[in-house]
Amino acid sequence: MFRQLLLAWYEKSQRKLPWRGATDPYHILVSEIMLQQTRVAVVEERYRQFIAQFPSAEKLARAKESTVLAAWSGLGYYRRARALHGAAKEVVRRGFFPRTAPELMELPGVGRYTAAAVASIAFGEPVAVVDGNVKRVIDRLISHKAADAGPVEEKQYWEIAGQLLDRQSPGDFNQAMMELGAVVCVPGNPLCAVCPVLELCASRGALPQPEKAARKKAIVQYSLCLKNGSVLLQQRPQNSSLMPGMWELPACSENNQKRQTSQPLMKLMHSITTTDYSVLVFAGNLRKGHWVPLKNVERSALTGLTRKILRKLKEGA
Ligand code: SF4
Repeated sequence: MFRQLLLAWYEKSQRKLPWRGATDPYHILVSEIMLQQTRVAVVEERYRQFIAQFPSAEKLARAKESTVLAAWSGLGYYRRARALHGAAKEVVRRGFFPRTAPELMELPGVGRYTAAAVASIAFGEPVAVVDGNVKRVIDRLISHKAADAGPVEEKQYWEIAGQLLDRQSPGDFNQAMMELGAVVCVPGNPLCAVCPVLELCASRGALPQPEKAARKKAIVQYSLCLKNGSVLLQQRPQNSSLMPGMWELPACSENNQKRQTSQPLMKLMHSITTTDYSVLVFAGNLRKGHWVPLKNVERSALTGLTRKILRKLKEGA
């Protein structure tokens, strides 16, 4: 009954998203990797552009890393782009796309969730997915009785999801569970009144909600150095834990008191995970770095913030 109700609702109510209905495993892999840690609204546009630029694993495998990173710019978490690039190269090296979840997990950057999503959606393998949305739906479906026995462990989520799975339509079922968590059984106050499995749900949203972590605030300052239609960029170290190898505006050094006390050219806000940054951009005359013509700069592997600053500069020009 649960499966029928969920699948009927999904067929009727699913959001129209560009990767819906895709059967090409490469396209599904791209969408799943993009959707890790990035909002659907951002991924929608970027997915179309990425697939237009790299329509196949072969095309992606042949691209330079800098081109792939530039195409990924704005999506954040660039290790995903490198892993996807590596996965495309591995598919080409093997000469075929792996079809089962265990085989897919041998590709760079493909974990249990992504492997199950690709295997079930592209190849119909009866394996369940578990992500944050699925966990929340399961938590609420089984509700207080299980809560009395303590929180559900990671291993149990996979077992429960596997028991719930519709083995005839695993791809649709997995997408339906995630869709239910994304649009109906949402964090905070679930929309139980329109939930297709209301009658089968033990909690109907009555579980206590965990407190939201407070967001942090920080100030960052950059130098905007312009010369003859070019902008000065610096490359982040390749061993940096954050956005290695990406290009950005030079940061204002802490001891540059003169720069910090002058009026900024631009102020903007930028949010990454749990931190809201107030960004101040000052006119600079530094020399260390790489001059890139402004007309070509969008093709570089820029950090999301640098791209935002340069777009704002262009709009104000
Ligand atoms: S009834 Fe409410 S709490 Fe239960 S699955 Fe549906 S939306 Fe979630």
